[in-house]
Amino acid sequence: MNLSIVIPLLNEEESLQELHDWIVSVMQSNHFLYEIILIDDGSSDDSWDIIKHLIEKDQNTRGIRFRKNFGKSQALHAGFKIAVGEVVVTMDADLQDNPEEIPELYQLIMEEDFDMVSGWKKKRYDSLLTKNIPSKIFNWAARKTSKVKLHDFNCGLKAFKLEVVKNIVVSGEMHRYIPVLAKNAGFSKIGEKVVQHQARKYGKTKFGAERFINGLLDLITISFVAKFGKRPMHLFGALGVFMFIIGFGFALYLGIDKLFINPTGRLLSERPQFYVSLTAMIIGTQFFLAGFIGEIMVRSRVNELRYTISEELNL
Ligand code: UDP
Ligand code: MG
Repeated sequence: MNLSIVIPLLNEEESLQELHDWIVSVMQSNHFLYEIILIDDGSSDDSWDIIKHLIEKDQNTRGIRFRKNFGKSQALHAGFKIAVGEVVVTMDADLQDNPEEIPELYQLIMEEDFDMVSGWKKKRYDSLLTKNIPSKIFNWAARKTSKVKLHDFNCGLKAFKLEVVKNIVVSGEMHRYIPVLAKNAGFSKIGEKVVQHQARKYGKTKFGAERFINGLLDLITISFVAKFGKRPMHLFGALGVFMFIIGFGFALYLGIDKLFINPTGRLLSERPQFYVSLTAMIIGTQFFLAGFIGEIMVRSRVNELRYTISEELNL
């Protein structure tokens, strides 16, 4: 199998037949062995009926249906789990991504040995205020924090080596940062290809203004987890000890001053250093405890994927 095409969708009944026909024609004219994996993320329209109909007529199409809307990340994850093609391509179901790009993406992975190639919607057909400008900010922040040099992290159209999708866990709303997940899993050859983008033909976008806040919070999470997720004590413990030492220093100074140098001076509670010392020691202890609890949690997650194997011999 050359290609698995993974398509998450929510209420895209008008687009599915057209999308499917288009992909099949591209696959056939390039003589690919392929599968199309459609993941219905809890649609309430007729999307699933259309998928069933497509599967009846086409051997190469597979479908997964979620019980309710779990989100694009979960849908992608479910598709990645069953994909078997050497190259896995993701795309949106709304006809905004162009299937004609797939052969070139395939080549970049197979011949130029990229781990993943992300589409870049250089000329974008979405609303300026709610999409294009916020996404410029996202992409800038994601580039800065992750050091992955991409212009467009959240393009629906991407291609991966099979082992990449098998070794990353896309959950929550992390589909926006799949290139960062890949890099954190050790797949560092990440490329970019300018792709054609169309305006949404049917239906409307599923991601509103809240994606602005959620996306930036996720970015903080992902860069934090990548760095300290497996060793929270190194961050919180250090901060905690640092704060505590500052607080303790002030307390020591006040104590010596009161006992030996200036016993008849101002009351301790009238001196600003007293409050600095108190808060710093309390916050320091809190930080330290946060690190400690974090460590306990990390250690109790036994069955989680924590490494990526690059080769195996003689198993
Ligand atoms: N989608 C999904 N689950 C969701 C939201 C969206 O599977 O909860 C799918 C949607 O059907 C589409 C793709 O994710 O195929 C991208 O969504 P959309 O086109 O609304 O995003 P935009 O292009 O506006 O960023
Ligand atoms: Mg779209």
